[in-house]
Amino acid sequence: MTTKLHLPGDRDYDLHRAAHSPTVDSRPAMIVEAMEPADIGLAVTTANDLDLPFAVQATGHGTWQPADHGVLLKTGNLSDVRIDPQRRIATVGPGARWGAVLSAAARYGLVGLAGSSPDVGVVGYTLGGGMGWLARRYGLAADSVLAAEVVTADGRTITATPDRHPDLFWALRGGGGNFGVVASLQFRLYPVSQVFTAVATYPIEAAAEVLDRYRGWAQAAPDSASTAVVLGGNGVVVKAMSTDLTGRALRPLWTAAGQVERRVSGFAEAKMGGVRALHQDFFHRLTDSDIATIIAAHRENGTTVEVRHWGGAIAAAVPDAGPAGHRSTPFSVTLDNPGSHLPTGIGAVFYNFLGDPSRVDDAFTTQNLGRLREVKRAYDPTNFFHINHNITPAPAAAALAAVTT
Ligand SMILES: Cc1cc2nc3c(=O)[nH]c(=O)nc-3n(C[C@H](O)[C@H](O)[C@H](O)COP(=O)(O)OP(=O)(O)OC[C@H]3O[C@@H](n4cnc5c(N)ncnc54)[C@H](O)[C@@H]3O)c2cc1C
Repeated sequence: MTTKLHLPGDRDYDLHRAAHSPTVDSRPAMIVEAMEPADIGLAVTTANDLDLPFAVQATGHGTWQPADHGVLLKTGNLSDVRIDPQRRIATVGPGARWGAVLSAAARYGLVGLAGSSPDVGVVGYTLGGGMGWLARRYGLAADSVLAAEVVTADGRTITATPDRHPDLFWALRGGGGNFGVVASLQFRLYPVSQVFTAVATYPIEAAAEVLDRYRGWAQAAPDSASTAVVLGGNGVVVKAMSTDLTGRALRPLWTAAGQVERRVSGFAEAKMGGVRALHQDFFHRLTDSDIATIIAAHRENGTTVEVRHWGGAIAAAVPDAGPAGHRSTPFSVTLDNPGSHLPTGIGAVFYNFLGDPSRVDDAFTTQNLGRLREVKRAYDPTNFFHINHNITPAPAAAALAAVTT
C-alpha cells in the first residue's frame, strides 16, 4: 500500500487535521496518513529534511497543540491488535483503540487496563500513564508495558525493554510522546471476565455528607475496588467498580443513597464514564475546607467535579516503575470548568488529564521530571517531538553520559 499524503486544499485535508478538542484548529503543511509501519520513519525523515515541525496523531483525543506548518503523521490505519492468550500479552499498532483491544482480549477472558472511553488510542493513553477503572487492582496501564518499538527523532527504529534502552523504556511509561513515535506496543493483559459495578445517586444537598463518608471509607478500601464521587447535573453520583463480584466491601458507599444501580458485566460493557479534565489537583487528604471548596466549585456554573481515589496497586508500583503520576497521593479532584473556586492540593496533575499545557511540570515528581529531561536530552536533544505536552531536554551538561543500548 502506498503512503497517503494530504495537502492544504485536498479533499480529505480537513477530515484528517481535525482533533477531538474543538479549540484545536491545526493547519499542517502536509498530513501523512500512514498505510504501513515504514511510513512512520518516512514522515519523521521528511520533517527533518524539510526542517518542518512534526506531530503524531492516532485518534485526536489528546491533541491540544496545532501542527501548524508541520508534518502531521496520522497512525489510525496501523491499528493491528494481536493477543497471545497463553502469555496474556497484547501487541498493538500505533493506531489501535481500546475498544478493539478489549473485544479481542475478552474472547480469552482477558482485559487490558483501559480508561473511560473505548475510542481513545491505546498508545497515547498508555504513554501518558493510563488511569483506568482497574488501576487500584492492577496499576496504571504504563505499569503493564513490556516493550515498545520506537522511531526516534533521527528516524532510527529501536526497541525499548527493561534491558534494551532502559532509560527510554522508563521514560515512555508516563512521559507521553516526547521521546519518539511508538510503532508497536506490547503490554500485559489480566484474567478478568466480569466486574461488579455500582452507581449510587444522592441529592446534591447530601454532597458534604457523602464526601465525608467517602474519605473515611477510602482509608481502608480494598485494592479490588476503584471508585469516584462526581458532583454534577444528576446530583452526587458515587461510582464503583470491583473485581470482587460480591461488591460487599462497597456497600457503605450506597447505604444512604436514594438510588443504586448494581450489575455484573464484562469490563467493556461497564461504561463507567469520566469527566472532561480541564483542571486537576491531588490531595493527601480531604479536609473539611477542601470539601467546602469542592461543593462551591460545583455550585459555580454547575461545574462537574470528580473526586477520585487512587492508591492501591498504583501506589504499590515496582521500584523502577515509569515516571507516571503522583503515586503516593490518594485523591484527585478534577473539574470540567476551571472557574474561580479551585480546590488546591499539592499542585499536581496526571499527564493524561492535563487540560492546561503550561502545567506539564506538575504531572511529575521533581525527581522524575529531572530524569525525564535527561532522557529527553539523550534521545531528542533538539526537541523534535515538541508538539505535545512537552518535556524540554535538560541542558547539555546534565545529559546522560552515554545512551545505554
Ligand atoms: C473522552 C476521553 C476519555 C479519556 N479517558 C481517559 C482515562 O480514563 N484515563 C486516562 O488516563 N486518560 C484518559 N483520556 C486521556 C487520553 O488518554 C489522552 O488524551 C491520550 O493522549 C489520548 O491518546 P490518543 O492517541 O487517543 O490521542 P491523540 O490526540 O491521537 O494523541 C495524543 C498524543 O499522544 C501522543 N501519541 C499518540 N500516538 C503516539 C505514538 N504512536 N507515538 C508517540 N506518541 C504518540 C502524542 O504526543 C499525541 O500528541 C481520555 C481522553 C478523552 C478525550
